Amino acid sequence: MNYQPDDIKFLKGMGPRRAELLAKELGIITLNDLLRYYPYKYIDRTKIYTISEVSASQTYIQLRGRIVAFRKEGVKYRQRLVASFEDLTGSIDLVWFQGAKWVEKSYQVGVEYVIFGRPAQFGRKFSIAHPEIEPAALFENQVGTSLYPQYSLTEKLRSNYISSKTFQKMISGVFQAHKAPFPETLPAYLVEKLRLMSADEALRKIHLPANDNEIKKAQYRLKFEELLAIQLKILRQKVGRSEYFKGFVFGKVGQLFNRFYKEMLSFELTGAQKRVMKEIRADLGSGRQMNRLLQGDVGSGKTLVALMSMLLALDNGYQACLMAPTEILASQHYNTLSDMLKGLPVQLSLLTGSTRKKAREAQLASLQDGSLHIIVGTHALLEDTVQFRRLGLVVIDEQHRFGVAQRARLWKKSSEPPHILVMTATPIPRTLAMTLYGDLDVSVIDEMPPGRKPIQTYHYFDSKRLAMYGFLRKQIDRGQQVFIVYPLIEESEKLDYIALEEGYAGVTELFKPPEYVVVCVHGRMKSEDKEYGMRLFKEGKAHIMVATTVIEVGVDIPNASIMVIESAERFGLSQLHQLRGRVGRGADQSYCILMTGYKLSNEAKKRIDIMVQTNDGFIIAEEDLKLRGPGDIEGTQQSGVPFDLKIANLARDGQILQYARNVAEDVLSEDPHLKEPKNKLLARMMDSMQSSQFDWSLIS
Ligand code: ADP
Ligand code: MG
Repeated sequence: MNYQPDDIKFLKGMGPRRAELLAKELGIITLNDLLRYYPYKYIDRTKIYTISEVSASQTYIQLRGRIVAFRKEGVKYRQRLVASFEDLTGSIDLVWFQGAKWVEKSYQVGVEYVIFGRPAQFGRKFSIAHPEIEPAALFENQVGTSLYPQYSLTEKLRSNYISSKTFQKMISGVFQAHKAPFPETLPAYLVEKLRLMSADEALRKIHLPANDNEIKKAQYRLKFEELLAIQLKILRQKVGRSEYFKGFVFGKVGQLFNRFYKEMLSFELTGAQKRVMKEIRADLGSGRQMNRLLQGDVGSGKTLVALMSMLLALDNGYQACLMAPTEILASQHYNTLSDMLKGLPVQLSLLTGSTRKKAREAQLASLQDGSLHIIVGTHALLEDTVQFRRLGLVVIDEQHRFGVAQRARLWKKSSEPPHILVMTATPIPRTLAMTLYGDLDVSVIDEMPPGRKPIQTYHYFDSKRLAMYGFLRKQIDRGQQVFIVYPLIEESEKLDYIALEEGYAGVTELFKPPEYVVVCVHGRMKSEDKEYGMRLFKEGKAHIMVATTVIEVGVDIPNASIMVIESAERFGLSQLHQLRGRVGRGADQSYCILMTGYKLSNEAKKRIDIMVQTNDGFIIAEEDLKLRGPGDIEGTQQSGVPFDLKIANLARDGQILQYARNVAEDVLSEDPHLKEPKNKLLARMMDSMQSSQFDWSLIS
């Protein structure tokens, strides 16, 4: 994508100091970097306001008037320069915290200026800090655009007088010096077929547009190019991997699978489960390594799908393992699987951090000689001492809890890569999945087992706490069980534990034995105590479980039908949704109660509203993406969005992304290795993308 590898320090008016700042602060080194540093918005500067019209609601304002006097305010080191600026309607302060000398030298009292900046209100008086200033005479003579591009800048740059205006000047300087068109970066046949703006035009217009339409077209072209590059990269990687790795072939459906399916399964699979099983069976029989992401809302029946897949591995003479992110979840999976497999000749065991040494050694030995068929566990499975005889399938539950490196270690436990099934209950919006997991195949269970009633969600302010407890009492007296969950965040861990303890104390005051039993479960407890509490609750001997988010993932207690989330404003949307998914598993009407303080930020308010309005995990995920932006989506923090997007926005540009995906598929189906001359520019684009950015995808 390089037009000129030229270092920007040789640009006119740049100088080594500025160049160094731009490199350090924004990573801009070459001319190409500069041109590819796109504005994030444009401000219309056709309108000039009067000072009497200034209000706190304006983000930017343009005024015309004169400086009547300069003065200094504040003490020594925190001194600021203030200019009174007037027009016929009033006066406003212009303020500089740095560079007073330079300002006083550059601007004169009495000369007419056009100023531009962000107004701030102090008492009744308005001021503008570090305004852009231009002599009115010059302003009038300015030709061209009235749409002023705004670039995101750092504090450091601003305090060194590098503003959006400076950027604009630098870039127009480049354009003036560079009259010849910048070379095209996409193949001509694509530009033509897709009716895109040329690279040259798009670059010029994105920085110096004449109107909104030009901005839109230039943005479209540049976003498309960016997303196409990513999709090509991902899709090529996928092709490369499937050519390179032969997968074990699980050719037959054997005894275990058939007996389980025909004799032991007490209910009918949902349509979605059947479809997904078909997809998985096709993968396992294909001779290529499976890399499949299984998405399904909490309670949609993923575990069953995992079990049946593992039985296929066993039927074909392989071992399988299932890894879960927490001890509680691992032992729950172990218990569920043991129950379901009762009567089948399958050896199953559980390995976690608290497995005793002797038991562990026995397990490891039988894993190595092949007499142990399925091992369920936590991170403990990753240790080097865990060696399989013939590992054929790895199932990873709640994949976002595991880092990439950890997954890689699991992957290496076999002479050849085992098939991988990653299960997640965090629905990932399509656009994001296409980018993050673009090289994984995705299966979706979009249907709940029959007979579930949608959970009803309510929002209570803390002041209504007593009413809430009254509701709990009524439900408990009807035989229901209740979760009360407190946030636990590393940064505020101490305080969070205090809140939990106080909450627990408060609840036990109101719900006293022998009528009521309340248990408390959290991560600081010994695992025996934790298990004891869990067991009491699971067996219906405790009515309320007060817990931290340790119960967030996967816990399955059908009789628990009420989920109270304390300080709900502190949770992210997807976490709230996960927590809510702990209830609604039995036949009874379930409830989720979100407790918050009175003071809610706008975002928190939105999150709560969305939760109250919908139970649909995909809608929630989409909203989450919009509210937080893709880098921040829960479930992706560990891998992050591995691409540095300069202009496209995954939350907003889903359609362009889909389009880019289709085009990338077409291009590669015709020319998988981008060897044809007409795709030369695409091949070059691939080369210039850093391959290290993508390594993670090999191992997910
Ligand atoms: P997930 O792992 O997706 O959260 P689970 O596999 O734990 O969901 O299933 C939730 C509950 O639903 C379990 O108790 C399971 O036995 C039950 N279940 C799964 N599939 C079906 C089905 N097709 N019909 C009825 N119940 C089902
Ligand atoms: Mg589950």
